[in-house]
Amino acid sequence: MTSLIDPYSRQIDYLRLAVTDRCNLRCVYCMPPEGVPHLRHEDILTYEEIVRFLRIAVQAGISKVRLTGGEPLVRKDLDYLIREISALRPDVDISLTTNGILLAQQAEGLAAAGLKRVNVSIDSLDPDTYRRITRTGDLAKALAGVEAALDAGLEPVKINVVVLEHLYDELEGFADLIRRLPVHVRFIEYMSPCGVFDSSYYVSAEEVKNRLAAFGKLESSEPPVGAGPARYFSLPGTRGKMGFISPVSSHFCPECNRLRLTADGKMRPCLFSQDEDDMREILRGSGDDAPVLEAIRLSLSKKPRDHGGFTEPSGRKMSQIGG
Ligand code: SAM
Ligand code: SF4
Repeated sequence: MTSLIDPYSRQIDYLRLAVTDRCNLRCVYCMPPEGVPHLRHEDILTYEEIVRFLRIAVQAGISKVRLTGGEPLVRKDLDYLIREISALRPDVDISLTTNGILLAQQAEGLAAAGLKRVNVSIDSLDPDTYRRITRTGDLAKALAGVEAALDAGLEPVKINVVVLEHLYDELEGFADLIRRLPVHVRFIEYMSPCGVFDSSYYVSAEEVKNRLAAFGKLESSEPPVGAGPARYFSLPGTRGKMGFISPVSSHFCPECNRLRLTADGKMRPCLFSQDEDDMREILRGSGDDAPVLEAIRLSLSKKPRDHGGFTEPSGRKMSQIGG
């Protein structure tokens, strides 16, 4: 295996792959109520195209692949894709970010196919608040998905929580969750450039951390597998940890190791830059792998040093990029 190094000497080994732009929820911070215009079916990369792209990317140095969306579990036969990725190289670290609504039915099959771990996005543990934030979601289904992921042996299971003001009333509930279950809760700062709200909804992860101190002393802690940019802490008597992801207040660009591929095959070297390279056209244009590899390297060469302080809109919403 070779390696992918960007112009700032960062080694890039992580690909976030959006398998669809469709979603069964309409989270208030991520989408307008009517959703976002859907890509046409023929514009979305087929599983065969994704696997071909990944074969080339894995040979070039990608060793971690996160499936995301939209909601990845609404795309049919995701277990098939996971099995095909595992067959490329068994040690590829395959993970999933999902809202969990369809996870209870799928967790076992996904784990059997080679999925290693999962992040489930649950912003509230109060059924009414959860429904208000997701506009349509049933909290019981998402929590059943978490239980099913644990039963299927997916490890670790992390809960993603976007930090908005409602959260102050919920910290006790999340502290209780990691007392009851071996899951890690990660508080993620709201990123306005690819969200629906403006930045006035932003609350810093540090503020949440300070308020969590009311539930016991937070001790700095070893991160679980695949921690990425999160800083982790443990609370007394808990089975899981609390993580804080602060892309806004203390950005982690110097350690960034990721590239992104959208469902329609656009490679984005940075979540917050509008730069995109069209991999779909290249994949559909020729059976030769060399131009695909060249395009990956070209995209990498455009990876910016940092997100530049969020001065520019990101061009697409989070559900269209994959978070
Ligand atoms: N549908 C899946 C889910 O919700 O987990 C995967 C896609 S979603 C775009 C990926 C992650 O991005 C979720 O954890 C979601 O909460 C988060 N997210 C969406 N919009 C965001 C924003 N503007 N700022 C911060 N996080 C955001
Ligand atoms: Fe869908 Fe995930 Fe966006 Fe919520 S955050 S609307 S679940 S893509």
